[in-house]
Amino acid sequence: MARIGILGFLHETNTFAPGPTVLERFIEADAWPGLVEGQALLAATQDMNLAVSGFIAAMQPDGHELVPLLWCSANPSGPVSDTAFEHIVARLETLLRLSGPLDALFLDLHGSMVTETLDDAEGVLLQRLRTITGPHLPYVAALDFHAIITQAMVDQTQAMVAYHSYPHVDMAATGARAAQMLRRILAGEVFHAAWHKLDFLVSMPWQSTLGDEPAGQIMAQGRALEAPDRPEVQFIPGFPNSDTPASGPAVLAYAISPELAQAGADALLAQVRRHQSAFCGHLHTPQAALQAAAAHPAARYILADTQDNPGGGGAGDTTGIAQALLAHGISNAAVALLCDADFAQAAHQAGVGAILNMTLGGRSSPGGPPLPGPYEVLALGSGQLTGTGPFYLGCRMDLGPMTRVRVQGTDLEILVSSRKQQAADQAMFHHLGADPRDYRILVLKSSVHFRADFGALADHILVVQSPGANTADLHALPYTRLRPGVNIL
Ligand SMILES: [Zn+2]
Repeated sequence: MARIGILGFLHETNTFAPGPTVLERFIEADAWPGLVEGQALLAATQDMNLAVSGFIAAMQPDGHELVPLLWCSANPSGPVSDTAFEHIVARLETLLRLSGPLDALFLDLHGSMVTETLDDAEGVLLQRLRTITGPHLPYVAALDFHAIITQAMVDQTQAMVAYHSYPHVDMAATGARAAQMLRRILAGEVFHAAWHKLDFLVSMPWQSTLGDEPAGQIMAQGRALEAPDRPEVQFIPGFPNSDTPASGPAVLAYAISPELAQAGADALLAQVRRHQSAFCGHLHTPQAALQAAAAHPAARYILADTQDNPGGGGAGDTTGIAQALLAHGISNAAVALLCDADFAQAAHQAGVGAILNMTLGGRSSPGGPPLPGPYEVLALGSGQLTGTGPFYLGCRMDLGPMTRVRVQGTDLEILVSSRKQQAADQAMFHHLGADPRDYRILVLKSSVHFRADFGALADHILVVQSPGANTADLHALPYTRLRPGVNIL
């Protein structure tokens, strides 16, 4: 029987978004649990589509002793404050020292965390933990699809496995893959890594693995290269709104010999090169999207407000598409989720049926101005809800007080939360007494994850470019730190 330490520290850092991301964002819950330590970690993450949940569920039948240390995450946003990083790492170091002898460590990481002073925060985290555990303790990490792989991360771990899908419907399954790697390592097997860093950046909306998108085809080719002696051949697209020397996708393979691993990485690299030019898509202006919707009045549309996607570092409070909807007089539309804690609180004080004469959202920059009222309060919610779609499945969210309002004199409805969260689960509508099928036009602040739960509701999905911090046209970003030769596709 082995003693296996378990920790999680996740942040996807948009280095172009306003920072810093402070400790409070890691302590509080959002769609995922707040900071949790010790045995409470097991209950807090149970039955969720999270890598840590999948790892624990897969490992429990083996009879090992699981030693939960600490798990925390914050919504994607600007660089993590040095204070927050130091606080959490110091706490992890303390818990690791107190944990007693371990036989292995599982780490639930995102892989693209940047702090105010560190480009490769995960690499530094791993190096610091190694000073406590020594160089030989098996470390197996689960990573996000958007992880930015670095040499330090490869060197400091025995294996790293990343999500295969975007939308990330396989986070728990990735934890189970990590468990399988660790199981073999504990049985005495040694895996060799081989990897390549790619020299291009792909914008988030064009990284989807659904349908016949290039990322999906590459993922399938990775699976075809896998075998018992080469269990992982991965394409990891990386997070593009990150300006660091390591930014860009990677190919990462593990096998029982260096030669097998290298052959797998080389073969998948060739496949990526073959598909590289297909990573593209069309960004619509709000006006063009609404003209298309007006021209097909019987069709259902989803407008993906990708640049204000809180899942990519957006503030979740921009108003550009809502303003355009009002200007075009488009009927039967809903916007979700717009983050405005003051507005939600006022709605709760006023009650259902009240008229709120105040502005909504529009406080962040870049983004449109606040949306003028008045608003009719249609529904209220505590913000405590459980995800039911394939991406947020089982996640016990705490989005703070919520409300659903109608812009008076129109039939534009807006779903408001107190904490930003991307609109990727129908439960967010149901929580506020609404059914997303009742609207002809859904404006969802999400880039790709929404497709898992909402995609089937729409005849047409348009990715819309309205001002927000999660820039979709990467050519517009002022990168200064990329490696020479890195291209923006
Ligand atoms: Zn991701």
